[in-house]
Amino acid sequence: MDNGNRQQSIAQLWNPDELVGGLEAVGALGQRLYSNADDTGSVAPSLDGKALKQRLHEAKRLLRNGRYEDAIALLGEGAVNLYHPGYMSQQLCAPAAASVVGDALASLLNQGHAVFSMSPTHSLVEDEVLAWAKQRLGLAEDFVGIPTGGGSLSNLSALLAARNFLSNWRGWRDGAWPKLTVFSTAFSHYSVARAAGMLGIGVENCLEIEGDRYGRMSVEGLAKSLTRLRDSEPAVVVLTLGNTATGAIDPIADAVAVARRIRPDVWIHVDAAHGGGLFHLSSLHETFAALKECDSVSWNPHKLFFSRFR
Ligand SMILES: *Cc1c(COP(=O)(O)O)cnc(C)c1O
Repeated sequence: MDNGNRQQSIAQLWNPDELVGGLEAVGALGQRLYSNADDTGSVAPSLDGKALKQRLHEAKRLLRNGRYEDAIALLGEGAVNLYHPGYMSQQLCAPAAASVVGDALASLLNQGHAVFSMSPTHSLVEDEVLAWAKQRLGLAEDFVGIPTGGGSLSNLSALLAARNFLSNWRGWRDGAWPKLTVFSTAFSHYSVARAAGMLGIGVENCLEIEGDRYGRMSVEGLAKSLTRLRDSEPAVVVLTLGNTATGAIDPIADAVAVARRIRPDVWIHVDAAHGGGLFHLSSLHETFAALKECDSVSWNPHKLFFSRFR
C-alpha cells in the first residue's frame, strides 16, 4: 500500500458517515427487536456453525460496501433473540434502550476509568451507579463497590478482598497467607472455585456444604462445618442468592445469623449475580435485608434486572 492509500484508509476509520450509518442500522435492528416483529422466527438461530460462519463473511462483505443495515440485520439474525416472546430468560435480559445507548456512548467517548483525570464525568457516573446499586440491594452505608466485567470477576474480587482481609494483607504484601477454607454448595457458581484456584487459596480448600434438591444450602450443615473449624483457621462462606442451575436461593438470613454466632470473624460473601435483580420482590425482603450483615456481594444487572414479565 503506498503512503497516500494508507493515509486514506486510516482516515476511513473515523469516517462520520460510517459511524452514523452504523448506529442507524443498529437502531433499525433494535426497533424491529423491540417491536417483536420477528416473533414468528425462532429464539436461537437455526443455522449450524458452518452456515453462521458463511453469513459472517457475507456480513463483512456488506460492511465493506457500506451496506450497514443489511450487514447488521444479518448479524442480528445470527444472535439469540432475547426479545422474542418465547425466550425463557436463560439468565440474560433484553436490555433497555438507555443501556444500549449508554454502551454506544461509552464506546464513543472511551474514557479511562483508572484515574479521575482520564474520565472526569464518567468517574462521577460510576459513583452514582454504585451508590444506586448499593441502595437497591440495601447494603450497609460503608460498602464500597467496583464495576467489573461480570459476575466471575466480581467473585474473584470478593475472594481477593477476603484473602487480604483475613490474612491481614499478608497475602498481598508477602504472597503468603494462612490456610483459608471456602464453604459453599455443589450448586454455587464454578467461578467461586476458579477464583480460589487463581488466588492460591486452592480449589481443594473449597468445601461443599450439603443442600436440598434445588441446591439450597443446609443451615445445619453450615453450622456443623463451622463448629469443626479450628479457632485460628480463617474461612469464607459463599452464599448464593439465586443459583445458576435452578435459581434457588440459599437461606441467606438464617445462614448469616448462624455463621455470625458460631464464627463472627468469617468472611461472608453473597453471590447475587443471578438473583440480585429481584431486590424489588417483597417476598425476598428478609433475604435482601440480611445483605447488610455480609462482607461482600456480587451482582449482575445484565441478568435478571430488566426481566420482562408478560
Ligand atoms: C452467571 C453467574 C456468575 C458469573 O457471571 P458472569 O457475568 O457470567 O461472569 C456468577 N454467579 C452466579 C450465581 C451466576 O449465575
